[in-house]
Amino acid sequence: MGCVFCRISARAESTFFHWFVLELAGTGEMTERLLRAQGFCPKHTRQLIPNASPGLLSAVYLPLLQSAAQDLRAIATGGRNGSSSSAWERCPACESVVTSLRYWSGLVEGCFQNEPRRWLERFADQQALCVYHYALVYSAVAPATQEHLDGLLLKGLQEPTAWPLQPAIDDFCVPTHLPDHRFDRAEAGRRWGDAWEELQARLNADTCPVCQWLAESAHDYLAWLHRAVADQPPSQWLQASQLCWSHVHAWLKGISAEVAWRWRTELASWWLVQYQAAKRRQPGRTIHGRDASPGGGRLRAALGVDESTCALCHHLATRLAEGLQLLASALPDPMIWPVYSHSKGLCLRHLRMLLPRLSPADRTQLLAVHQRRVEVIAWTLERLLRLDSWNRRHEPITYEKDGWQLALRTYQGELWAFEPYPRFPQ
Ligand SMILES: [Zn+2]
Ligand SMILES: [Zn+2]
Ligand SMILES: [Zn+2]
Ligand SMILES: [Zn+2]
Repeated sequence: MGCVFCRISARAESTFFHWFVLELAGTGEMTERLLRAQGFCPKHTRQLIPNASPGLLSAVYLPLLQSAAQDLRAIATGGRNGSSSSAWERCPACESVVTSLRYWSGLVEGCFQNEPRRWLERFADQQALCVYHYALVYSAVAPATQEHLDGLLLKGLQEPTAWPLQPAIDDFCVPTHLPDHRFDRAEAGRRWGDAWEELQARLNADTCPVCQWLAESAHDYLAWLHRAVADQPPSQWLQASQLCWSHVHAWLKGISAEVAWRWRTELASWWLVQYQAAKRRQPGRTIHGRDASPGGGRLRAALGVDESTCALCHHLATRLAEGLQLLASALPDPMIWPVYSHSKGLCLRHLRMLLPRLSPADRTQLLAVHQRRVEVIAWTLERLLRLDSWNRRHEPITYEKDGWQLALRTYQGELWAFEPYPRFPQ
């Protein structure tokens, strides 16, 4: 029971990490893919950690850091531009999920082509398609199957349970509740006199300040939405509750059953109203007085469940721009710079976004600090890998065993923004 594609995604992820640990990690091809993706995405970094040993994590991230050091050197000498974020590819685990969904979409299409009535009944009985996977599967199937999927989803959204809004969420690697703040912001806020002090407090915390702002903003947004759905009329929160798959995942993991029910039923009726309006604007063909295409792409447009329409993704883009703007102005200041150079600093992703906003002199100063930092982390990982050898068995392994945390934080600061440090299972 529940969305079959949610379960396919979860299985594709666990199969990927099974083979990653057994065979793929450290191969030339996988290293190239991770370089092009700048490491794993936050979700899959979280999933990688309990699957891998410190040695494996060091071996995976060492070539990435070596390449990053070279990259920073090239930017410093004017050979490359700093803002290459748009060129990053999908993380290899995300890619394996997409490949798997494409493959299974093909099979579903075969089923619907041969015995549409039987498969529609089975899908409806099992409530086997959520709106989030509908959008993915829709783009991979032929128009005839798209029509079947539209009909199935419309029927589901009209049912009292609004089952297409109940994705079968895997429990792995997402927080089981809205996470607590790493430091008490209410308490710290009383001490902040102004933006300078707030920034200094961020820099003294353990991870990238931009990652902290973004993680806290996402938390604040979802916590506000939870209160709004519980207490306020739908007109106050419906549009704001239109989330992409990754944010709906975080949202559903943190909310109460009553709020989930209210959100689901109100959002489903709102979508149906939007769909009807779109249908009136663009009436479809009719055959024998019946609408030939229940959706004709209109349902998909009315649902709008990707990053481009996610209210939280939009909010975070604004928060990111605000954070980068503050850093660009404040970082070169003689009061802030010493704090920054002693802090963990920005993650590589946010560093690259900040660079184009700085003057050449400030950019050079920042790049020098980060280049050295990345080189020392790479050195630590390399040393751990050498200490693993029989010839070095007399040398104790101390700080080297935690080098992977510094390496991963360099790529995904947000994992350290909220939660306690990820630990291996005991
Ligand atoms: Zn699903
Ligand atoms: Zn991923
Ligand atoms: Zn960051
Ligand atoms: Zn989103």
